[in-house]
Amino acid sequence: MSSVDVTIQTILSAGSTGVSGSPFATRSTCNSRLADAPWQFDVLPPSYGPGSSENDSIPANSPRQGQLPQEYRDASPQELDLRIRAAKHALGERAVVLGHFYQRDEVIQYADFVGDSFQLAQAAKTCPNAEAIIFCGVHFMAETADMLSRVDQSVILPNLAAGCSMADMADIDSVSECWEQLEEIYGTEADADGRVPVIPVTYMNSSAALKAFCGERGGVVCTSSNAAVVLQWAFERGQRVLFFPDQHLGRNTAKKMGVPLAQMPTWDPRKPMGGNTAATLESAKVLLWHGFCSVHKRFSVAQIEQARKDYPGVRVIVHPECPMEVVDAADAAGSTDFIVKAVAAAPAGSTFAIGTEINLVQRLGGQYPQHTIFCLDPVICPCSTMYRIHPGYLAWVLEAFERGDVLNQITVPESIAVPARVALERMLALAPATVAVKA
Ligand code: SF4
Repeated sequence: MSSVDVTIQTILSAGSTGVSGSPFATRSTCNSRLADAPWQFDVLPPSYGPGSSENDSIPANSPRQGQLPQEYRDASPQELDLRIRAAKHALGERAVVLGHFYQRDEVIQYADFVGDSFQLAQAAKTCPNAEAIIFCGVHFMAETADMLSRVDQSVILPNLAAGCSMADMADIDSVSECWEQLEEIYGTEADADGRVPVIPVTYMNSSAALKAFCGERGGVVCTSSNAAVVLQWAFERGQRVLFFPDQHLGRNTAKKMGVPLAQMPTWDPRKPMGGNTAATLESAKVLLWHGFCSVHKRFSVAQIEQARKDYPGVRVIVHPECPMEVVDAADAAGSTDFIVKAVAAAPAGSTFAIGTEINLVQRLGGQYPQHTIFCLDPVICPCSTMYRIHPGYLAWVLEAFERGDVLNQITVPESIAVPARVALERMLALAPATVAVKA
């Protein structure tokens, strides 16, 4: 199984008739500019770059990446490989490289740990000698790692433009405005059972400022693995929940817990009262922020039907960031960790159609050749923001650290980190974190 980079190059050089991760693929990729080096986008006005989030609007104040020095842009893959390995060898335990499941294989090959965002942040804690934590993921993940690491450790994001379009859909100003409106509507007094009007719950995929917002207001963080446990905790303490930024994870989880759809209105921050009537808000149990992941939004019921037609007996597993209809039509839904474990535990000869980011799906295909594994989405369209990390940036930050320079450091001020840790600790008390896999 070749990497996604190689697949994209093959498709484009063959004039859109190459191979793909899916046996029934239309053999295409979503944007031919995926073949361009990511530094070509660093000098342009901020954008998420080609890939699944390319049509999402990026906040004007998004972190920008300056131009990568010429020597790294000019270096061949072989030269970068030698330089990264040499820098890692020289640094030894002083630097740990973390690779998210959705990261490209060309970067994952250098990772000391591979996992989801929270697993990786926890993994960094098991490296007491690491002075640099180099997070090959996206911005909110590096923030979480910074908040959970020691003050003398530096968290480095190799490309500052690696944000997350979903996390950017909820910013502190619009959530604070929403909260003010909710206080006007529901008041601030607890009911006879001691339950406050609203508990804020933020998905891990959010800025540190929003985690702090939750920590300061009796709220909590959740991951896609523990969202049900966290929501149960919130329902015991609040009459309703404000869930952000991913409406799909919130809806899919609460629906499974028996909350009727009519009691889960969506809150659109661009509209007064979130676009809802007073009656709808009165009966609401979960207010779902109007956010989504553009990778997981691409999956459809039609793709599931096609997979079942082409592969009788196929097991369809999707991520809970997918739309509700897709989760309902699948055989199972769960976090990246759930998907990885389901594939690992299956008997040889199993067939999986998987609804999550293409890099993870193709990697699983390579790791488990005894199975048939393909991505539900027939178009190769990676997470745009993970794709902004390239070996060139990794070589740049590693060599700089070897010289004593800390580049692209992500630092969360203590005024935010302290309340954000409160929300994270509440989650950890409910559901201890699982550990990232040592690569
Ligand atoms: S896959 Fe979706 S939620 Fe994850 S980093 Fe990419 S845009 Fe964000």
